[in-house]
Amino acid sequence: TEKLLRQSEKLAVIGELSAGVVHEIKNPLTSIKGFLQLMEAGTIKTEDYISILNIEIERIEQIASDLLGFAKPSEELKPENLEEVLDEVIFLLNAQADKKNIMIEWNKPTKHVPVLGEKTQLKQVFINLIKNAIEASEFNTRIVVKMEEQDNNAIIRIVDQGHGIPEETLSKIGESFFTTKEKGTGLGLMVTHKIIENHKGTIEIESEVGKGSTFTVRLPIFLVNVSA
Ligand code: ADP
Ligand code: MG
Repeated sequence: TEKLLRQSEKLAVIGELSAGVVHEIKNPLTSIKGFLQLMEAGTIKTEDYISILNIEIERIEQIASDLLGFAKPSEELKPENLEEVLDEVIFLLNAQADKKNIMIEWNKPTKHVPVLGEKTQLKQVFINLIKNAIEASEFNTRIVVKMEEQDNNAIIRIVDQGHGIPEETLSKIGESFFTTKEKGTGLGLMVTHKIIENHKGTIEIESEVGKGSTFTVRLPIFLVNVSA
């Protein structure tokens, strides 16, 4: 019964989420359709509205990419090197950080940290967290990413010097579509949480308004069975 219950809880969450996603995607679609009809009828000049169409399409794209990893049923888990996952993610996000002259300091572990997981999903977790850190940070600040091993767990901390999270916001974080950003989707942390849960890990948030936030991810290290 427990399994059944959990399955039905999951379905309820997916149902709620789909309704939200449909709603969020319908708005930009309605706008795109409306403008295309006006363009077709020659009522408006195409050139003036291309940028609006682009913004609306980007919105749908953002929702789709934020949901990546949520809808996908987890594939078979394989040992993946976490430091390699973070190398790739940080390389990817350095361009975005550079635009605000933010330095991402990456304190790599000295040896490989294997985690049983799915690489694209693990990447998605750290993309979401580091992207949020960049978005919360002022120009010319620093984000520190550090990884250590503790009791067969990999502990990854993402520390920013951003605006922080007020108490009343903290409880709403990770709820689908909760965002404080003008162009946010409020899907990133929900997906992040879900993926970490699938990997039998945990995530913790510490934050101080005006000082910054620390997101701590804990993932079980994959131990090679030497006796086998
Ligand atoms: P989005 O980034 O689209 O808003 P997320 O689920 O990634 O959605 O984040 C939800 C909210 O959590 C953000 O809108 C922001 O208010 C808050 N948040 C997340 N990470 C940070 C951070 N590092 N510093 C401050 N606030 C954050
Ligand atoms: Mg986000």
